[in-house]
Amino acid sequence: MVFRRGGDDRRTEVVEEDEDGLNIVSGDDDGEELTGDLFEAGQLCDICRVEEGRVGLDPTCRGAYDGEPVLYGLKCLAEGLKAAYSGVEGVAVIVESFDEYSDHYYYRLDEMPAYQFVREDVEAISWLLLTIGDACARCGEQSRFAWLSRDFVDPRLPEGEAIFRNLEQDIEHLCGPCAGSALAVSYLSLELPLMTVELPRSAMGIVMPTGE
Ligand SMILES: [Zn+2]
Ligand SMILES: [Zn+2]
Repeated sequence: MVFRRGGDDRRTEVVEEDEDGLNIVSGDDDGEELTGDLFEAGQLCDICRVEEGRVGLDPTCRGAYDGEPVLYGLKCLAEGLKAAYSGVEGVAVIVESFDEYSDHYYYRLDEMPAYQFVREDVEAISWLLLTIGDACARCGEQSRFAWLSRDFVDPRLPEGEAIFRNLEQDIEHLCGPCAGSALAVSYLSLELPLMTVELPRSAMGIVMPTGE
């Protein structure tokens, strides 16, 4: 399943080929470490040090970018995500988390073919990215994200098949803070013991549910 852990090795290869010298992935040993668990169940929230941490935000996207991973508890999550998404440059499509998918990974647009997204899907996402930039549907500020609920994907996320659907329907565009708030609601609603989520970090890409 390409969107799951099996895709990690390929990601490392892609990063090393495309961004040699521009990232901190320097060898196979480092790559192995990056596929380990960044966050562990039972650790305390990094912000308040009181509550149990439930959602780990990895702005490095497993070592491809700079930044410090932060583990948030339920109370600190919304403010943390709002702040993180406020700082995102570029635009991204976000596919809402659902069901048991405990990870939410970021793929650059140019990485998508290497992860077995079919051409039809890559083209659809490319087109969707170009529509972003009008007023946020919730607050009127400039949008940076297209928000796709589970109704816009095949929930099995099958490898090597087209997974997007209904893209001709109205799609909500959100600004950074509203995207952060929407994600906090989405992550909290799943009630999973521990999630690992990434942040859009390049000019264009997609955040996708993944994991067991
Ligand atoms: Zn906290
Ligand atoms: Zn907004």
